[in-house]
Amino acid sequence: MTGAFLPFTRPSIDDETIEGVSEVLRSGWITSGPKVKEFEAALSRRYDGRPVRVYNSGTAALEVGLRVAGIGPGDEVITTPLSWVATANVILQVGAKPVFVDVDPATRNLDLEAAQRAVTPATRAILPVYLAGLPLDLDRLYAIAGRHRLRVIEDAAQAIGSRWRGTEIGARGDLIALSFHANKNITSGEGGALVLPGKAEVPLAEQLRLQGVVRSGEDGMEVEIAGGKFNLTDIAARIGLGQLVRLEEFNARREQLARRYFERWDRALGCELPPPAFGESNWHMFQVVLPEQIKRADFIARMRGEGIGIGVHYPAIHLFGLYRGLGFREGQFPHAERIGRSIATLPLFPSMQDTDVDRVCAAAGHVLRILRG
Ligand SMILES: *Cc1c(COP(=O)(O)O)cnc(C)c1O
Repeated sequence: MTGAFLPFTRPSIDDETIEGVSEVLRSGWITSGPKVKEFEAALSRRYDGRPVRVYNSGTAALEVGLRVAGIGPGDEVITTPLSWVATANVILQVGAKPVFVDVDPATRNLDLEAAQRAVTPATRAILPVYLAGLPLDLDRLYAIAGRHRLRVIEDAAQAIGSRWRGTEIGARGDLIALSFHANKNITSGEGGALVLPGKAEVPLAEQLRLQGVVRSGEDGMEVEIAGGKFNLTDIAARIGLGQLVRLEEFNARREQLARRYFERWDRALGCELPPPAFGESNWHMFQVVLPEQIKRADFIARMRGEGIGIGVHYPAIHLFGLYRGLGFREGQFPHAERIGRSIATLPLFPSMQDTDVDRVCAAAGHVLRILRG
């Protein structure tokens, strides 16, 4: 083991942000208040002036997105089986039916051709995911949605700062959900945001956030729908504000590190690398798919022995017990299943050194050669 343990990710929180959080804590107002408004305004400026509302998780933002789009019982939502389970759980949460389609093995994102074929008269929305921050072909996605009159709820939890043909994810499109979970490119500890296509749906997005409450005048209060308890605290919003101003810097550093992985990784090891999507991806993760004969658990254990943390993002969702119980089976989505079994997330975070990349590449080469026998 050489040097300190290298985790697969780690947030970068600066002293200015820590000071700012202390001020919020001393201010007398710590739950949703002025910092939440400021965070929403800063995000809205980033997304071309579109309305943005923040929530206490990316999952909450996705669920509210589905409800705002009017998705409920009897509706089908097309999505990918290769994502964090939240992506599909929110579809169940609103009473709709997740319809999985396989991924493109090169991009590991929803295969849009397959998505198009999965449309039925009950389909109401597509919920794509930008795995590791790699965008989909948004022109094709929205062409399909337009042709079949579908809503799009983009799970851009991993794609803050990613771009499609020069336009930032979130600046165009229908409903875009972001996450500020501690492992994402910027964090508020926990938190999320929903970018809305216009003002019309903002009141509903707010009611769904806090018990359905609508206030008016000095003391007026009305409740017509059962909203959730999804509001973000000012404490979290202040962390988010301190992170948002550093997003470009963080993502530029991630890109440098990703470039170094491409330079240093030994292609003879037989792993599948991600597409070198410079200028598009925000390099939320750098993931390799191990050769089929390598047991991922062995790779993880031996890499830990070398002082290196490896992440698993993600096993195929449809093979979890909850989804098997709904009738999903092994063999339905072979690409997602194979990638889900063999994908490994290598360390990548802004405060990493170039030499850390070299160390990961050297250790992985050593470990994979042993495991291959
Ligand atoms: C992180 C993540 C979510 C959920 O975000 P939380 O803030 O953890 O609720 C949803 N989808 C994807 C793809 C994610 O990576």
